[in-house]
Amino acid sequence: MRAIHLFPLFALAFAGCIAQPADPQIEEGPVSDQEQAWDSQDGNPTHATHSYLTEFAIDSLKARYPELSTYRAQLVDGANRELHELPVDDAEQEALRVEVQGTNWGADRADLLWARARNTYAAGAKGKAYWYLGIILHYVEDMGCPSHAFHVVHQGTWSQRDNFELLALQRWAPSYSSINRVDPRFASPDAYVPFSGTWAARDFTTTFPYVTYRLDFFPSTWFFISSTKSTFVKNRQGRTAMVTKWALESALTHW
Ligand SMILES: [Zn+2]
Repeated sequence: MRAIHLFPLFALAFAGCIAQPADPQIEEGPVSDQEQAWDSQDGNPTHATHSYLTEFAIDSLKARYPELSTYRAQLVDGANRELHELPVDDAEQEALRVEVQGTNWGADRADLLWARARNTYAAGAKGKAYWYLGIILHYVEDMGCPSHAFHVVHQGTWSQRDNFELLALQRWAPSYSSINRVDPRFASPDAYVPFSGTWAARDFTTTFPYVTYRLDFFPSTWFFISSTKSTFVKNRQGRTAMVTKWALESALTHW
């Protein structure tokens, strides 16, 4: 979503345990609103979840790969790009969005971003290469949300919101104590996009058997959330941070 519409969501979420917007006027943004999974930084009054996820990956690896500290800003900025199924204003990003065939839940050709990143890195434009890599990480991160993993279409508007994402926006509370996968050590970071989605889907179906994911399956605030759902969100935050780290390390070892 265009992050400017995050604020109404954010404000409403904190206005009380409301299930519906108090004012229908606030409900719908422009049709061009970008979908997003975790919240991203543009116009976001909170520290964006895409930033948290990417920063975890960088901070976990920067001692071994000092270059990460040099290009941290480019990586985090790339990870906050929302290149999905809807057009964006920026011409360069729009061309990229079309090239990678953005979808509501991710992109069909994230591998093309990796090819760009590698070529750009080889040509010496490392800042730009890290920015492309950040966009790949964005898709890896998005697929850590059940709605993306199950391809349940949603947007950043109130009526089309995903409550799981709204919870994540309100609180960064990752749990790293139960990482239930090991790094498959793929040879390219884009391979972690479907891996992340499969992981999220599996987590959901094992935690909530026989449940078909709906955008309102989770409550819109943390106030009265069940412990099972609370733990699920925290685990997903931690596991998505971890898969982001693995994808980043794959890139760093296969430039
Ligand atoms: Zn997104």
